[in-house]
Amino acid sequence: MTRLVIGFISLQVFSGFAFAGGPLVIEGADGNTPVTYFNPNITVHVESDDLNAETDNAAAELILQDAFNLWNIVPTSTINLDTDLTALAQEPDINSSNFSQYIPSVDGSELNGNDNLNPIVYDSDGAIIDAFFYLGASEDIIGFAASIFNLNGSFFNEGYAVINGKDLGLTDTEFKLLIAHEMGHFIGLDHTQVDIDNQESDFGFPRICSDSNPQNYPVMYPFVCRNEETLHADDISAISALYPDNDINNNFGILQGNFVDESGHAVLGANIWAKNTTTGEAISIVSDYLKQGNGFYKLYLPPGNYTLHANAINTLFNGGSSIGPYSSDSNDQSFIDPITEVAYQGATQGNAVNITINAGQTRTIVFSITGNDAVLVNPPAESSSSSGKTSWITLLLLLSSLLLTRRAVLPPITKL
Ligand SMILES: [Zn+2]
Repeated sequence: MTRLVIGFISLQVFSGFAFAGGPLVIEGADGNTPVTYFNPNITVHVESDDLNAETDNAAAELILQDAFNLWNIVPTSTINLDTDLTALAQEPDINSSNFSQYIPSVDGSELNGNDNLNPIVYDSDGAIIDAFFYLGASEDIIGFAASIFNLNGSFFNEGYAVINGKDLGLTDTEFKLLIAHEMGHFIGLDHTQVDIDNQESDFGFPRICSDSNPQNYPVMYPFVCRNEETLHADDISAISALYPDNDINNNFGILQGNFVDESGHAVLGANIWAKNTTTGEAISIVSDYLKQGNGFYKLYLPPGNYTLHANAINTLFNGGSSIGPYSSDSNDQSFIDPITEVAYQGATQGNAVNITINAGQTRTIVFSITGNDAVLVNPPAESSSSSGKTSWITLLLLLSSLLLTRRAVLPPITKL
């Protein structure tokens, strides 16, 4: 049996900024603020060219709208993505000769981060992707997206996306999920692991995407394994936390606390998830995702009964496919002394504790790598690193995600 495995890697184009689980960028004057769009009504301007010979401009527009709608229909989030075809209609085809007039140049000397375009560029022949990454990259990479913000800022200026027009063998559903994933990064969402086996590997076993139910994989998992045009509960929770609607408290309760080692010191960069005991749905965040040094976690959960768990981030998910602020490379905090999977058991060793979450209420649980209740040893106070001089766009983007298609031949599966 041959199976097409689609995955993506993401590339941190300008390093030096850490990314977080849940929110993608943590900045702000305090250095602990998830960066978002101030106005959740975001209009992207789509270029007038066709995506490729098979998909003309109008057909590509329908694909974009379907992908955007996955986020737009979440009732507990204010995010609203829309397309506008007029602003770029009079402009020439955006291609490898002129893209730096619209999106950041490859060397970052031009950002075009202040023209209110939020451009969506159809890279019909893959030449823009090749220019950004490496010659031939467009055989593997389906697109990339990012947003631009100011150092110390709490809000994105604008974003952009480049979509590869080459036929890389994706189904319509896979293509829409890829665009939804890229737009997730555009609006500030990071990757997520939830309760997927953290030993999944692109070369070893178990193979990426081998969970028996593809719908257990969120849209924001680093690989595209999902095969339904819907969001996972984790995606819905994450977008609601980042862009909350007024009635979020009628639909979610909060489970928060700190994750610590046996002596009460914060564990940074562990995967923390709650699993609904009725539906089996998992929702996750990375410990210390706000980079406060205290192992803080916070989960927005639909009302119900849950168990609480922790494990290590999959070592595959470093670099561009990182999850949380401590997985930027294989030597980062998430991968040093990786914790063993543990369930929260309360005061003594035993079974996983059933945790009831009610809408509008917050439960706080500080627990340790043994699974037991714990007390946080406060980290040393950090002196503010803000020097007061903020230069206009010091940074560009954070994460450009790209996609890598991998055609993996799996061993035959024998049914007994
Ligand atoms: Zn990604």
